[in-house]
Amino acid sequence: MANLHTLEHWQQLASELSPEGRAFIGGAYIDALDKDTFDCISPVDNRTIAKVASCKADDVDQAVKVARAAFESGIWRDLPPAKRKTILLAFADLIETHADELALLETLDMGKPIGDSRTVDINGTVRALRWTAEAVDKIYDEIAPTGPDELGLVTREAVGVVAAIVPWNFPMIMAAWKFAPALAMGNSMILKPSEKSPLTAIRLAQLASDAGIPDGVFNVLPGYGHTAGAALALHMDVDTLVFTGSTGIAKQLMIYSGQSNMKRVWTEAGGKSANVVFADAPDLDKAAAEAASAICYNTGEVCTAGSRLLVEDSIADEFMAKVRASVIDWRPGNPLDPNTNVGAIVDEGQLIRVLDYIEKGKSEGASLTVGGERVTPVDGGLFVQPTVFENVDNRMAIAQEEIFGPVLSVIRFKTEEEALAIANDSIYGLAAGVWTGNLSRAHRFARGLRAGSVWVNQYDGGDMTAPFGGFKQSGNGRDKSLHAFDKYSELKATWIKL
Ligand code: NAD
Repeated sequence: MANLHTLEHWQQLASELSPEGRAFIGGAYIDALDKDTFDCISPVDNRTIAKVASCKADDVDQAVKVARAAFESGIWRDLPPAKRKTILLAFADLIETHADELALLETLDMGKPIGDSRTVDINGTVRALRWTAEAVDKIYDEIAPTGPDELGLVTREAVGVVAAIVPWNFPMIMAAWKFAPALAMGNSMILKPSEKSPLTAIRLAQLASDAGIPDGVFNVLPGYGHTAGAALALHMDVDTLVFTGSTGIAKQLMIYSGQSNMKRVWTEAGGKSANVVFADAPDLDKAAAEAASAICYNTGEVCTAGSRLLVEDSIADEFMAKVRASVIDWRPGNPLDPNTNVGAIVDEGQLIRVLDYIEKGKSEGASLTVGGERVTPVDGGLFVQPTVFENVDNRMAIAQEEIFGPVLSVIRFKTEEEALAIANDSIYGLAAGVWTGNLSRAHRFARGLRAGSVWVNQYDGGDMTAPFGGFKQSGNGRDKSLHAFDKYSELKATWIKL
C-alpha cells in the first residue's frame, strides 16, 4: 500500500520541486531549436510550475531522424525479446522508486487528487509496463499450413518509428498503454504529451534511459497539438501514429495521414457512455454509488465516464434519491490533500467548457438537481461542483456531446427495447454499463450494446488482460491485452520453396 502522507508533506515536497521542461531527444534533455517555451500552469492554484519546450516541425524532424537511426541500427529491435523485457521491467521498477515525485507532478500539472495519482495512476502505469514486458517473450509466430514442398512463415516485425500523441486526463497511463507495447515490440518512438500535462512524460524519458533503453529509442517531445502534433502526423518518415484524445482531432489525424505517407493511424477517441439501471438490479445502493463515481471520479475527465445514466421509470424516484446523496459525497478540495476526492479542472478553457454545458442543460429544460457551480477550495484554483441533470431527453446537447467534466445526464426509460435504443443513440461507442439480476437480460443487453467495453453489475471493470477501445466514432484499434501488439507490428508472409 502506498503511503499517502499528509497535505503538509505534499505541500513541502511541491515547494522543493523544480520540474524538467525540456524535450528528451537522443538520450539527452534539450531546448526547442528556436528556444521557445510555454508556461505550465497548475490548475490547483494558477501558479506557473515550469517552462516547457514548445517543439515545432524542426524539432519533430530532428526527433524522427534520431528515432529512425536508432531503429535502423538494430540496437533495440534486434535484442532478444527477453532482453527487452528485462529493461522494461527495470523501467517499471524505477517508476515505483520515483512514485511520490511522479504522482506529485501529475497532480500539480493536471489537478487530480494526490491519492488517485499515487495509487491509480502510478499502479496503472507500472502494471501496463510489467504486464506487456512479461508478455513479449511468450508470443510465437506462425507457420502456415502448406504441402510438403513449401514452408510458409507468418512473422511479426516492428513497424519502425512510432509517434504517440496523448491527452491530459491520465497522462502517464495513456502514454504507458502506447509506449509499453511499442517498445516491447522493438520500435523506436516519439511521445508527444498534451501541452496541458507534459511533466510526467518528460520525467519518464530519463527513467527509461536510466533503465537501459538505448539513446534515440524513446524520445519525448512536448509542444502544442497544432505545431508539434500536426508535424508528427504529417511527417513522411513516421510509420505509425497512435493517438488518444478527442474524436475531432482523431479525424484530423486520419486526414494528415492521407496527405502525407499513409502512416497507420490508430485512435482512441471520445465517449458518451450509457449506464443502464433496470428495476431488477441486484443491489440498488451499489448501483447508485457507482453511478456517482462513474461521473465524479477524475472530475468526470474520463473517456468512459458514465455520463448518461438511464434509469427504469418504476424505480427512478427511489434510485435517484440515492444517486443524489452519493454525488454530494464527492466534494472539490485541495488536490494535495490525500482526503480529497474531486480535484481541479485541467485548465481555464476546460472549466469554461464545463460551465457552458451546465448553462446549456438549464436552457434546454433539464432539471438541475445537484451542484452546477464553480467553487474555490484553493485560491486561484479551477474547480466545479459535481452536477446532476434529471428529466433529460437523449436529443439534448448534454446527452449527445462529450462534456468531459462531472456533469451527469439522467434519462428515464420504460422498456428494455427503449433503453437499448437510447443507449445506442450516440455517435460514440466506447463503453456502457448494465445493472440487472436477470442473467438472460444481462447477456441479451450486453450483446445489443454497440460499445467496446460493457460492464455488468459494476461500472469500469477490467485490467491489462482485456482489450480497450471503441466502436463507431470512439476510435479504432485496441489498447491493452495481446491485441495491442497488432498496432505496433507488421505481419510478414515468407514463402519458401523447399
Ligand atoms: P485533444 O484531442 O484536444 O488532444 C489530444 C492530443 O492531441 C494532445 O496531445 C494535443 O496536443 C494533440 N492535438 C491537438 N490538436 C492536434 C493536431 N491538429 N494535430 C496533432 N495533434 C493534435 O483531447 P484532450 O482534450 O487532450 O483529451 C480529452 C479527449 O480524450 C476526450 O475526448 C476523451 O474522451 C479522449 N480520451 C479517450 C480515451 C480512450 O481511450 N478512448 C482515453 C482518454 C481520453
